[in-house]
Amino acid sequence: MRRAVAAMARAIYPARCMVCDTYTDAPGGLCPNCWHDTHFISGSTCTTCSAPLVGEVSGAQCDTCLSFPPPWQRGIAVLEYEGSGRRMVLALKRNDRLDLAPALAAWLHRATAPLLHGTDLVAPVPLHPSRFIRRKFNQSAELARPLAEKAGINYIPDLLSRTRKTESQQGKDRIERQENLKAAIAPTPRHRAGIEGKRVLLVDDVLTTGATLSACAEACFAAGARNVNVCVLARVEPRREIPIFASTN
Ligand SMILES: [Zn+2]
Ligand SMILES: [Zn+2]
Repeated sequence: MRRAVAAMARAIYPARCMVCDTYTDAPGGLCPNCWHDTHFISGSTCTTCSAPLVGEVSGAQCDTCLSFPPPWQRGIAVLEYEGSGRRMVLALKRNDRLDLAPALAAWLHRATAPLLHGTDLVAPVPLHPSRFIRRKFNQSAELARPLAEKAGINYIPDLLSRTRKTESQQGKDRIERQENLKAAIAPTPRHRAGIEGKRVLLVDDVLTTGATLSACAEACFAAGARNVNVCVLARVEPRREIPIFASTN
């Protein structure tokens, strides 16, 4: 109820900063302090995980992705998962701040522009039904839907589904995460045939080790996808958690 009232107040009263709620010039914006604390990813980045690369290189992968290539082709992240970026991801996921989703999806849309013309289907990383019931929404779908609408691309919210309940990935290392996800994600049966030959863009809120997105990409390839790209709102900075991708099989 309190959240509903807060959401209504945000809709009626003048624009506020998406992070700290101080007044700003325009809706869906950030105050100067929070803007300063938002780390957009730019410059030379790894083509598969968006990690910053040293020097002016293009079309290159970071050492981690070279050693453990993720199953997808291109991966784009908008923000570093720190400062305001982290606060926005957590607000969306934990505090029902769905009002942030359109502005965040607009950032995703801009960052993924190079991938969109070659995309047939947009789909979110699925949440397990029990978690969905508890949370009442899938934050990745809240980003994927407006992204697909803006791009005019077919959006299939249940392209993939969780086939069994998995434990939280938090606190698990790479091997444990892969074990946890083994065969836990599959194409939803009625969409399986529709994946064949298609170019899929998967959307998630955060890229950590990439285990979940790897499982999703492999499920798409197993159903005959022509290619799979991924985009995320924020990526965990490698020094904080080393992203190591590997097959989940
Ligand atoms: Zn602010
Ligand atoms: Zn990389």
